[in-house]
Amino acid sequence: MCGIFGAICQGAVSNTLKALKLLEYRGYDSAGFAANRGDVIEICKTEGRIAALERLAQGVAETDVAIGHTRWATHGAVCAQNAHPFLSPDGRFAIVHNGIIENYLDLKKYLGKKVFSSQTDSETVAYLLEKEYRGDVLQAVLRVAQMLQGSFAIAITAVNERKLYAIKNKSPLVVGFGEGAYLCSDIRCISRWANSVAVTPDGTVAEISPDGARFFRFDGSPVAVNFFTPEQGENVAETSGDFMLKEIYEIPRKLVLAKNGYFDSGGLNLPERRAGSFRKIYFIGCGTAYNSGLQVSAVARQWFGIDVTPVIASEFVYGNYPVDGHTLAFFISQSGETADTVRAVERVRAAGGYAYAVTNTASSSLTFACDRTVNICAGGEYAVASTKAYNCQLVTLTLLMLDVALGRGAISRQSYRYFLREMDSLPQAVMRALKSDDEITRLAEKIKDVSALFYIGRIADYPTACEGSLKLKEISYIHSEAYPAGELKHGALALMDSDVAVVAISTFDALSDKTASSVNEIAARGAMVITVSDRVFENSLPLIIPKVHPALAGIASVVPLQLLAYRTAKSLGRDVDKPRNLAKSVTVE
Ligand code: GLU
Repeated sequence: MCGIFGAICQGAVSNTLKALKLLEYRGYDSAGFAANRGDVIEICKTEGRIAALERLAQGVAETDVAIGHTRWATHGAVCAQNAHPFLSPDGRFAIVHNGIIENYLDLKKYLGKKVFSSQTDSETVAYLLEKEYRGDVLQAVLRVAQMLQGSFAIAITAVNERKLYAIKNKSPLVVGFGEGAYLCSDIRCISRWANSVAVTPDGTVAEISPDGARFFRFDGSPVAVNFFTPEQGENVAETSGDFMLKEIYEIPRKLVLAKNGYFDSGGLNLPERRAGSFRKIYFIGCGTAYNSGLQVSAVARQWFGIDVTPVIASEFVYGNYPVDGHTLAFFISQSGETADTVRAVERVRAAGGYAYAVTNTASSSLTFACDRTVNICAGGEYAVASTKAYNCQLVTLTLLMLDVALGRGAISRQSYRYFLREMDSLPQAVMRALKSDDEITRLAEKIKDVSALFYIGRIADYPTACEGSLKLKEISYIHSEAYPAGELKHGALALMDSDVAVVAISTFDALSDKTASSVNEIAARGAMVITVSDRVFENSLPLIIPKVHPALAGIASVVPLQLLAYRTAKSLGRDVDKPRNLAKSVTVE
């Protein structure tokens, strides 16, 4: 979601434009940059895509200090006026901001009756800098930092300064050095320029010059921050392509990497004295990451004898869920920057619980917040709608639960090894599922004009239904809902008619007769039913998937649903990789 970049280097404007293109995958609605030319700062910004900004930037001369922004509007409409950067009224400062200044109305009052050029919360920061400036930029930045409440990564450039300043709290911000000095909201992006980076801690002001960076708490006291070499290769953001389809087809290979990566990094590896003492286990995440927790908690309960509570992160933060020293909480986030999830960590740690990150991004805010991290090894994921990361999260969470079960004696070594062997058959099963792509494309044509879709399943097939439904609504904009299959008759059956379609997932033999009954009940009301199963059901369009152990079935059975969402969205002409209103890493609460 949204992004900022700042550069002190040769060709700062063109590098900033390049960086904004790399940040595109996170989702945004407008973009802009500021070129600092010594005694004047030039602003260039627009609503819409970076391509539009590039056209606008054609007349802008190069310079060696610039800041840039991709906006995901929270305060004020999507329009050029509300796009960042913002100048202070005297033109001394330009700022870009990711996040939300929660007390911006109070700050506007403090500033007096000023006319603002935008409806954003962010613009107040530029005005405050002008008001607080008494000849020393760093002191002004520190004074303003103390006034702000909320989540913010703010980059600041000031006239006649070959430096950049940043204020950071609860929104991602990385500082880096290479041929020049840089700041960015995204470690994958900055690693294109920087071979030495530091993750800025919350509550910090950074002063960045070509010679190095200094970090301060908001009260002005210095903070020591470690620099390290970012991962290269896959970690470097890519800029173009039909990402979602590519990422779905990568799943078989990534499943192998996820399993190997888990064991290479030492597995569950809890501190010795605590391993046996956890009485309460949570899976905490949002969206697809939550669904992966939901899925593996069903598996853990049914097959490994472990009770895990899956919770949506934003609910966990304010919902008074019990936490104490015997709590083990797994925090699941592809980007590692999901604000709701990172916030939830604070609650667990403050109450003495053990926080365990399950993420695709080493060196993310989540990694720094948690006691331990395991990487799901899905590689860079750039389509806003997550696919391969979900499958890899399932592999990693399943392995974690197997280790917990083994540690507690809930399963034998023999069945542990049996599950691992079963897992090895998954890449093959997914490859076979991908072979149904043509058939899925035909089904997509059939469902693309329905008014709503329902996804149903029981036990571990229900979370798969949730994820299939989420994928479809995210990128096709067709209304869809997921139900535990048995629950349909308690309400949603009222909606069944020839204008809706139902996707029924059935991978658990013991319950497949129940699926058959549901399919008949729905078909009798005139709705089209697609079944995703290794079995053929009457009165339905069957999508046959290979048989795998039901504890692992969700890892393969979700793949046709990911493809169905993709093909449906494509046939409706949607912008699949960048669906409207959505962002890749959701860095605001
Ligand atoms: N709250 C700011 C706005 O609405 C910043 C949003 C962002 O993070 O892009 O402009």
